[in-house]
Amino acid sequence: GVSPESYRRRHEITVTGDNVPPPLTSFDTTDLPSEILREVQLAGFSAPTPIQAQSWPIALQGRDIVAIAKTGSGKTLGYLIPGFLHLKRRRNNPQLGPTVLVLSPTRELATQIQDEAIKFGKSSRISCTCLYGGAPKGPQLKELDRGTDVVVATPGRLNDILEMRRISLDQVSYLVLDEADRMLDMGFEPQIRKIVNEVPTRRQTLMYTATWPKEVRKIAADLLVNPVQVNIGNVD
Ligand code: ADP
Ligand code: MG
Repeated sequence: GVSPESYRRRHEITVTGDNVPPPLTSFDTTDLPSEILREVQLAGFSAPTPIQAQSWPIALQGRDIVAIAKTGSGKTLGYLIPGFLHLKRRRNNPQLGPTVLVLSPTRELATQIQDEAIKFGKSSRISCTCLYGGAPKGPQLKELDRGTDVVVATPGRLNDILEMRRISLDQVSYLVLDEADRMLDMGFEPQIRKIVNEVPTRRQTLMYTATWPKEVRKIAADLLVNPVQVNIGNVD
């Protein structure tokens, strides 16, 4: 095995926080549930990507994370897999609303995240609903009414549905802001804040961003509690 320090150095991982757990550098040494490991194997993945290796053990401790990494680094499973474990532990009733909420800037990205959630969550019987604009609300509302463990949503559409009182976020205890910098660039900050106001404060919050400008730092400071910061590569 490699030491955490040499793995981090080799993969340009920088961590900031107290007692950051070592990265999970191999699928063989993880205690991820076997049904999830099987899906990962079927997908042909040989090892966790650096962002996965470092963010899984932190997320599994229930801690907040802000991760700064460029696209294509495997962030989606980086937050979905710990989210699946979170769901298993909570055993909430999906009829009462989602437990895991992922905010994403665009319909295209949201549906990609949903595809990944369905593919890797199916064997754990995890249900996922995708909410985005530019499509009629009816089918999305119908899907919500059937109950769902995970909601992946663009901020605009989720905010509309919240205002219609057709979703409750009272059970959300695992909140992900994916591509936070892009969501802010698109002007979604007011909707994000309204949504997060409806999520209980006792929650785990994970923020993923490709860049780290002051607007993103500000919203991270407002929404996350004592996060561990993980940087991959020399993005800043
Ligand atoms: P990001 O959100 O960082 O842009 P994605 O989560 O979309 O990246 O992942 C990019 C691609 O890498 C996807 O096709 C995904 O299925 C794949 N991928 C994810 N994890 C791994 C892994 N451990 N090994 C190989 N490929 C992976
Ligand atoms: Mg992504």
